[in-house]
Amino acid sequence: MPTIALINQKGGVGKTTSTINLGAGLAMLRKSVLLVDLDPQAHLTYGLGIPAHELEYTVYEVLKGEVTAQEAIVRRDRIEVLPSSLSLSAAEVELSGMAGREFLLKEALAGLPTRDFVLLDCPPSLGLLTLNALTAAQEVFIPLQAEFLALQGMSKLIDTVNVVKRRLNPDLTISGIIGTQFDARKNLNREVVEKIREYFADKLFETLIHDNVSLAEAPSYGQTIFEYRPDCRGAQDYLALSREAAARR
Ligand code: ADP
Ligand code: MG
Repeated sequence: MPTIALINQKGGVGKTTSTINLGAGLAMLRKSVLLVDLDPQAHLTYGLGIPAHELEYTVYEVLKGEVTAQEAIVRRDRIEVLPSSLSLSAAEVELSGMAGREFLLKEALAGLPTRDFVLLDCPPSLGLLTLNALTAAQEVFIPLQAEFLALQGMSKLIDTVNVVKRRLNPDLTISGIIGTQFDARKNLNREVVEKIREYFADKLFETLIHDNVSLAEAPSYGQTIFEYRPDCRGAQDYLALSREAAARR
């Protein structure tokens, strides 16, 4: 099943915003989409208006093997969500002693009927949850904020992907870099994007996601950008990104 992990150990770079709105954009293009929230902060889950604290089952119970992924999946219009909640914060420790601990998500997703896209929203660390995403995925998208020090930490991230590729998941590739929170008026932003392009060449999506306040507001209404402000710049950007991502395969 085409599975993409959105990773960056930095917080605030747009992983969750991109997972939600790329997922929603792909759904608008009539793709079947499953979003998996692997962050104990459950921003993706709440951002889609799903009350994480009221859920009977989340990805945590799935990883522990207590329920199947299908039992925990919530359908939200045209998107399906495997939600998270704060209880997932125990997972890094609780699951660390399990045999095959890096493969728990891969096994859980293997039983599902196939979807066009599965997007994995990762926590801001390179711990066990992110490792589970990297073994379950074939591809990695890295959201990068076009600001000073955007590339700092990149070699650690790439090392981690390469170690996983060598030892656990030979199919894994970094296939897309998403430039986020871009402000064309700022020279620095443009320079940083040029640096990212030099470093990653054609892996950088042509579509840059502009800094757009509606993207920051939508989650507090539990809405995707297409529901909240379908005509705003953020919606245009994420639809263009979705078209590019769909066309790349
Ligand atoms: P991460 O998941 O990497 O920690 P988020 O997607 O949660 O990052 O984004 C961090 C913050 O920045 C959030 O408050 C989000 O609403 C806001 N944000 C993300 N992308 C944009 C954007 N393009 N324009 C404006 N605000 C954004
Ligand atoms: Mg996040």
